Amino acid sequence: MKIHHLNCVAIQSPTGDNAIGHCVLIETAAELILLDAGISSIDLAQPSLHFSKALIQQIGLNLTEIRSAKEQILALGLDPNCVTTVVLTHLDFDHSSGLLDFPQATVHIGVEELASFVQGNPRYLSFVLEHQPKIEVYAASPEHWLGFEARYLSIHSDLKMALIPLFGHTIGHCGITFEVDKQVYFYIGDAYYLRAELTDPHHPVHELTATRAVNNTQRIETLNRLMTFVKDHPEVCVFGYHDAAEFDDELGAF
Ligand SMILES: [Zn+2]
Repeated sequence: MKIHHLNCVAIQSPTGDNAIGHCVLIETAAELILLDAGISSIDLAQPSLHFSKALIQQIGLNLTEIRSAKEQILALGLDPNCVTTVVLTHLDFDHSSGLLDFPQATVHIGVEELASFVQGNPRYLSFVLEHQPKIEVYAASPEHWLGFEARYLSIHSDLKMALIPLFGHTIGHCGITFEVDKQVYFYIGDAYYLRAELTDPHHPVHELTATRAVNNTQRIETLNRLMTFVKDHPEVCVFGYHDAAEFDDELGAF
């Protein structure tokens, strides 16, 4: 089993930090598994198809300097058609537009997140599921993983993987835990934008994450739990979606 780290988003954030879109590709004997999907090749080629100029400006999206997950998978010498599982932390378009490049994949997601999307929460862009992929949803579970509720995924691969509710950023936002070569990973999506949120209470990014959170009280609770978790479990590799420094660390480690 092999892990590839793919950067599939470029954002010039209002705080001045350049944000990325840290997707994870897991190569198993049977299939390719993608965790979060970045911006699709279709949207990179023709941004106006799904994105208004105002949205691109508001987010600070840079659509010219980035390659889609599909393109990066091809560059690795792998077949994008072998991506049969995509696990999503949540449905914000910067994490889910890439689904368009993998119409054959089953999408795995928390039930609350899909419900919020289907109910028409205006933060989402409906095009990301318009191709009607097969979707597996995961409801609240009595199982636990290192103190968190764990919703273990039903995937064919021998990889054990679970969605971990980290609510607040969105109604059903989940992290994803998995283990490869005896290393345990905890991919926390947008539970923080920058890891500095765990250590620096005065970092300007807090204001941005608070603004983008559906439920800020829940977001802060989640953040506090993660602060405790990283102290208690230094053996677990914790990383999120938008922090460029974490991405560089991961690339350096492999
Ligand atoms: Zn995001």
